Amino acid sequence: MREVLQVRFSEIYLKGLNRPYFLRMLVERVKQAMQPVNGRVWLNDSRVYVSDATDVDEAVRRISKVFGVHSLCRSVEMPKNDFQAIQDAAVALLHDENGTFKVQARRSDKRYPMDSPAINAEIGHYVLSQLPQMKVDVHDPQILLNVEIRDQAYLYTKPIPAVGGMPVGTNGRATFLLSGGIDSPVAGWMVAKRGVTMSAVHFQSPPYTSERARDKVLKLGSILSESLCGLRIHLVPFTEIQMQIHEKCHPDYTTIIMRRYMMRLANKVAYAERAQALVTGESIGQVASQTMQSLLCTDAAADLPVFRPLIGFDKQEIIERAIKIGTFETSSLPFEDCCTIFTPRHPATKPKMDIILEGESMLDTDALVAQAMAGEEIVEL
Ligand code: ATP
Ligand code: MG
Repeated sequence: MREVLQVRFSEIYLKGLNRPYFLRMLVERVKQAMQPVNGRVWLNDSRVYVSDATDVDEAVRRISKVFGVHSLCRSVEMPKNDFQAIQDAAVALLHDENGTFKVQARRSDKRYPMDSPAINAEIGHYVLSQLPQMKVDVHDPQILLNVEIRDQAYLYTKPIPAVGGMPVGTNGRATFLLSGGIDSPVAGWMVAKRGVTMSAVHFQSPPYTSERARDKVLKLGSILSESLCGLRIHLVPFTEIQMQIHEKCHPDYTTIIMRRYMMRLANKVAYAERAQALVTGESIGQVASQTMQSLLCTDAAADLPVFRPLIGFDKQEIIERAIKIGTFETSSLPFEDCCTIFTPRHPATKPKMDIILEGESMLDTDALVAQAMAGEEIVEL
């Protein structure tokens, strides 16, 4: 008898021809997550199993964060032909409980000498005979004791909910614009959760943004990299572009024009990363640059589609998500972002495209973009 983690995935993704591919990727991702605690990971009968971790609690914590994992169960595994051992294991699992239970047996081995109702009845009786404090309730039990007869027998009580989604690497590539704020790490995480391989771009404006602001972004990146299965961050210098916009464009339009330059640069990074989309942390109406009109003007500067997974979220909802992901604390550190310097007093909330284009005609866009990209620094996390 030994403890085994059973890892379950969301069934809907497993229909059709993609199933073996999906499963292989999931096993790969679980193996990666398990590296610090060793352990064995294998696929059997369309289930992922994990055993022999040096720290089982840590293994559970790590696996429940792997995208594609729906839930996991700490179960005991034993030979299915020793029915007494199965019954004893059932008693051991319920030993410290007090209340109602129900046995729920499933057989994938249909040649097993007992059928599921017989297994339920036998184990139920045995538990009642050994643990007088327990009662059976088949309609609304406090504890559901699962017994699975596969090539081995598995017993468990409570499935542990996991993050869900799809394994990273099964759904293309995207580049997200990572600021030091609360929103963009959540946005990147949400797209990655759908199985997308992520890379990030961050714009920094030294000397107006400090070394500590940069460290904050790298810290956010390293927190995310566990779930994202590694992360490459492109650090792109943005000072010259901001200075020129500040100098030459209408003050109410500096923010929106700056946003458009960010899109142009992010596009370059995305092409280098073979990404198929850009991702930002914007949500409708949060600030002047996130009104419907502003978003329209921002998008016009990007070739690739721009995904905004937080578009309908309130700030409070984003904060709750950031807390769960583990980025909130770092995001809340008070360092400046390039967006917060040179902020106009009255940023246009309904920017006009002709005024934007007039402003941008004062700038040598190609040269500015090329110069910024030449100063790019890449950090692997
Ligand atoms: P966040 O909390 O993500 O910083 P925000 O509410 O501060 O969002 P803005 O500053 O308007 O919003 O930025 C909107 C989006 O633009 C961000 O979510 C992020 O995707 C991107 N962005 C902003 N600043 C930067 C930056 N310095 N580098 C990279 N991307 C940025
Ligand atoms: Mg920001």
